[in-house]
Amino acid sequence: YDSADRSGTGDQIRVDGIRKTFNDGSVVACDDVNIGIDEGEFIVLVGPSGCGKTTTLRCIAGLEEPDSGSITVDGEDITGLKSKDRNLAFVFQSIALFPHMSVRKNIRFGLDMNTDLSKEEKRQRVEEVADTLGLSAMLDRKPSALSGGQQQRVSLGRAMVMEPAAFLLDEPFSALDANLRDKMRVEVKKIQRQLNTAMIFVTHDQEEAMTLGDKIVVMNEGYVQQIGTPYEVYNEPENRFVAGFIGSPSPNLIECTVERTADGLAFASDFYTIPATEKQVDRVEGYIGETVIYGIRPEYLNLGTDPGEFVADLDVVEPLGDRDAVHLSANGTSLSAVTPQGKISKERDRIHVDIQTEESWL
Ligand code: ATP
Repeated sequence: YDSADRSGTGDQIRVDGIRKTFNDGSVVACDDVNIGIDEGEFIVLVGPSGCGKTTTLRCIAGLEEPDSGSITVDGEDITGLKSKDRNLAFVFQSIALFPHMSVRKNIRFGLDMNTDLSKEEKRQRVEEVADTLGLSAMLDRKPSALSGGQQQRVSLGRAMVMEPAAFLLDEPFSALDANLRDKMRVEVKKIQRQLNTAMIFVTHDQEEAMTLGDKIVVMNEGYVQQIGTPYEVYNEPENRFVAGFIGSPSPNLIECTVERTADGLAFASDFYTIPATEKQVDRVEGYIGETVIYGIRPEYLNLGTDPGEFVADLDVVEPLGDRDAVHLSANGTSLSAVTPQGKISKERDRIHVDIQTEESWL
């Protein structure tokens, strides 16, 4: 069937209404978590420390027992099954290879413990996995003779030989340095595409979530805030939390009053009255006189346009590499913009600003 069919009840993995509390119910780690995962989909659970993403993953893995809710894989309810009977492979934060065993034995370990495959079948699986991961030449080495990235691949290989229905990964790159982390992200995504096996990946890093996920689940304080593609959560955040958490620098959230003007409707802020787009007019028609939060990403403030819609004071120019983050204040309101490197000179003190209103949200 096609993906449209699967997005309904046919999801390969379904998490339905999971709730998990600790300390006799006084700590709610996660609640009302509903996630549908299609075959071959890369899902990232992302949110700040303590938001419940690890607990959600551990419930899926069978390492925690949820207070309520269910988990279904390929239509079978696995909520009551032990972790080892779930056909899901968990890759932990720390690499934890057996130091005295060769790479070959490390990769084969799960097969030796949990399957009755013949020696030949095991050899074949291990070699296939090693080939996929570029580890074939290192099978007889001990983990200590591998680089951090190679060790990380071995730990992925241990999961891959089990040919699970899905991989569950909890911040697998958090111990790696930034360069290696970037490389491993690309590798994991490539491998996942090749295997076409669902992957559920936990991270607190919104950038990592954006680069890896087909679908991103943004969590805060135990609750799912939004589920969507990277573009959806970035372009159409459903609430203030998602708007502020995804994207860096954070978006401008401007307090405005909805007003009627000669040309239609507008949003009056302390520094500028922003015209409503055609799409927005219908939405705010009933809110005249009320306060709304107008959201606009830093990259959609154009600086140095003449004459410009309004004028702001230039506070700080912060180099980000290829771009600069430019921090402004307009009549007491702080705003951020992003410009190509060096476009705005630090020496300037006043600057004209335009808002690309069609990119805004309310
Ligand atoms: P982090 O990125 O810091 O690991 P997280 O989003 O993965 O955070 P969880 O580890 O799922 O968050 O924790 C969610 C909440 O549940 C936190 O308040 C945490 O302190 C609490 N919690 C998690 N495990 C336990 C436990 N075994 N006993 C008591 N409280 C727990």
